Amino acid sequence: MSYDLDPSPCHRTSALWWDISSCRDLIVSGVWVKLVCAGCNSEIGHGRFLSCMGSVWHPECFQCHACNLPIADYEFSMSGNYPYHKACYKELYHPKCDVCKQFVSVILTDSLIPTNMSGLIEYRAHPFWLQKYCPSHEHDGTPRCCSCERMELLVLLVFLTMFTFQSRETTYVSLDDGRKLCLECLDSAIMDNSECQPLFLDIQEFYEGLNMKVTQQIPLLLVERQALNEAMEGEKNGHHHLPETRGLCLSEEQTVSTILRRPRIGAGNRATDMVLEPYRLTRVCEVTAILILYGLPRLLTGSILAHEMMHAWLRLNGDCWPFAYQLQLFC
Ligand SMILES: [Zn+2]
Ligand SMILES: [Zn+2]
Ligand SMILES: [Zn+2]
Ligand SMILES: [Zn+2]
Ligand SMILES: [Zn+2]
Repeated sequence: MSYDLDPSPCHRTSALWWDISSCRDLIVSGVWVKLVCAGCNSEIGHGRFLSCMGSVWHPECFQCHACNLPIADYEFSMSGNYPYHKACYKELYHPKCDVCKQFVSVILTDSLIPTNMSGLIEYRAHPFWLQKYCPSHEHDGTPRCCSCERMELLVLLVFLTMFTFQSRETTYVSLDDGRKLCLECLDSAIMDNSECQPLFLDIQEFYEGLNMKVTQQIPLLLVERQALNEAMEGEKNGHHHLPETRGLCLSEEQTVSTILRRPRIGAGNRATDMVLEPYRLTRVCEVTAILILYGLPRLLTGSILAHEMMHAWLRLNGDCWPFAYQLQLFC
């Protein structure tokens, strides 16, 4: 999701540093026109003043709404009829990137600038987490959790040598198939066949309550992304979900590489030592197996599994429900 925001609108103080002693216009037809400061409501009197926002001000009374210090700059920002130092306005309103902690910026001709070609502040925001980030992080290799889609955050490292630089705190776990997983998602991730079975039973029970029990013994196998893609290609009448397939309901006899034992998290937060096992599927009914992508949180795994079990039921009960097969094509 992308957002464009107006950058801080820039206003100018006009006639900065008028000096009443030199200003004859204030005496109109021989009558002294009283100037009242919009800040303190007292007469400007003699000396310098400035005029902006349709009023006149003592220099010390024209104050920033954020820091309450006088604005002596020629340019200032405004929001809701209040003046701000440009820097104070930026601090308040220019979105900060949740990933690199800087003001969001876009890359234009190799340099980072705060606004895009149309002069607008551009940033991306995740619709659920509301994580805001620079558009560049989508292409600069910033790890993103394959489940919740949150970006890994950069942390500021300050060394005793007084050098400060940003480094990525490797909190995300790298799975064998290239996916990244944040620690929260890892916490409840279903990583091997045995961990998935209780979930399988729960969902079977749920469907039984709906009178959609699958009575056949269908193997439920947890697989890596590679194995899932290979199995998908081995299907004649494949039905899969775009953009990424996370579960499959198989009908062909194939050999599938399945996860017998979960990986452990080794050095550099890499998942290693996973035990795989080839599993030969035999066709005893219309459905030979349900495959689920490993490493996803329990809730997500459950929803994928429930979806694939619905496909299995529709496929197995296609004879008694003529629209069952067509129905599957829509989901
Ligand atoms: Zn004043
Ligand atoms: Zn200020
Ligand atoms: Zn950033
Ligand atoms: Zn996550
Ligand atoms: Zn589907």
